[in-house]
Amino acid sequence: MGEVKRVFTRCPMCEYVFKAPRVSTYVTVGREPDLCPKFPGRQLDGSRVLQYSVTMCPSCSFAAREDFGDLDLSPIERYVLEERLKEDGLLRVFRTSPPPWLAFHAAEVCGQERALAARELGDLCLRASWVCRKEREYPFESTFQLRAIRYFMRALKDGLVGRELSVTTYLVGELNRRLGNHREALNWYVNAARTSEGDPSLTWLERLITQQSKLAREQAA
Ligand SMILES: [Zn+2]
Repeated sequence: MGEVKRVFTRCPMCEYVFKAPRVSTYVTVGREPDLCPKFPGRQLDGSRVLQYSVTMCPSCSFAAREDFGDLDLSPIERYVLEERLKEDGLLRVFRTSPPPWLAFHAAEVCGQERALAARELGDLCLRASWVCRKEREYPFESTFQLRAIRYFMRALKDGLVGRELSVTTYLVGELNRRLGNHREALNWYVNAARTSEGDPSLTWLERLITQQSKLAREQAA
């Protein structure tokens, strides 16, 4: 695992100051077909690297992927976020002993209130599903995969282009396959292949689509 530093961080919501972990550099050894990075060594170390990409305030549960120093919340935003975090069911249940995925959930809740793009919210849920897999929290992995699909489909409806369009379409397929919806997955792979055709920077994706389509066909049979 890379070098972990703890840096002083001020919460943009409640101004609580705490030390948040940051990983400077780390090595990956390829990706899984849902693009989850593979890390050398123990699964749990990889999980920790993924977790450090989201910061959550230990006092009020405000969470985001961005550096807290870059965030400037208006008094109204703070008020709305505070109410939302207070009444969130999962945060209420898990706040006292946070599971590894909780910060992602909190970042999703805050992201909704901060009107983040659906693609970004989907990305948060996808990352949460990676953490759940590495931590063997399988029911939560599926929950986050479903949520990621929902956001990605909304993002596709809002309009994506180029690489983002192809990768997002592929991910909807791959997440469906992982959830056992093999026919659905195959349709999305076909769509993804159509959007990436002829783009030389996406040959890796075309290879992945061919490989995963074959797998989904076998699983569907
Ligand atoms: Zn806070």
